[in-house]
Amino acid sequence: MTLVGEKIVLSRLQQYGGDDTVRETTLRQIFLEAGCPEAQLTVQAVPHLEQPNVICMLPGTGSRTIVVGANFDHVAAGDGVIDNWSGASMLPSLMQSLRAAPHTHTFAFVGFSGLHANYVGSKFYVSQMRPEQVKGIDAMVDLDMLGLGPTMMWAKRTDLRLAGSLMQMADAMKMPLGVVDLAGEADEEPFTEKHVCTVVVHSVTPENSQIIHPPDDNYKAVRWDDYFASYRLMVAYLTKLDGATVPKGYTCKGLPASMTTWKGLGRLLKP
Ligand SMILES: [Zn+2]
Repeated sequence: MTLVGEKIVLSRLQQYGGDDTVRETTLRQIFLEAGCPEAQLTVQAVPHLEQPNVICMLPGTGSRTIVVGANFDHVAAGDGVIDNWSGASMLPSLMQSLRAAPHTHTFAFVGFSGLHANYVGSKFYVSQMRPEQVKGIDAMVDLDMLGLGPTMMWAKRTDLRLAGSLMQMADAMKMPLGVVDLAGEADEEPFTEKHVCTVVVHSVTPENSQIIHPPDDNYKAVRWDDYFASYRLMVAYLTKLDGATVPKGYTCKGLPASMTTWKGLGRLLKP
């Protein structure tokens, strides 16, 4: 497993400044610096939005795809560091790690525009896929609001198989992982509607949720060790997903009701 150094991951998170158009440029720049080949870095204009989706494709040797997404737009209050430059700026580092080793899946790393405009960016992205492309997606991994604390799963928006596999990985790495359901929209929604299995990771708990959207969402809110731990966990997890085969005929399943409300950290599900 190849990890990008802490200083580099931190420096990418620190480039949160500017409006969403600046962020779009910054995200493309970071993708290039991280080694996304120019020919595989594209933008997808989204109707009625100023900023496009930013996409880095990492072709694999097989025919299946894993989509790793995070929105880069933010609300006017605060700097939008946690929500969601934390997720968007992690995409290039994850790409860099995945690119360093052979992989079977094609990975699509997507910075979505317009989550805060009724997630039009991710909706448009999914609407532009052919049905066979949608069927070719083994997992959609959504990163939304990391770095407030340890990694959490949004239970109601996470498939049981993907959840079990993330818990196994956290267990193996002796890393904390909790389950917290949130309210509002996430970019996994349009994928779920097309029956793609999704997993949403974040870091929001009842104790820290007041930071999201008020001006408190600034760089001071970042707990650096937790953020870097989330990055390490996601590199390992994506590597694991790349090596996994979805059972034939599998359809996404929700998590048991006992798991869909706030749980403390630690092992929650025996995979
Ligand atoms: Zn938000």
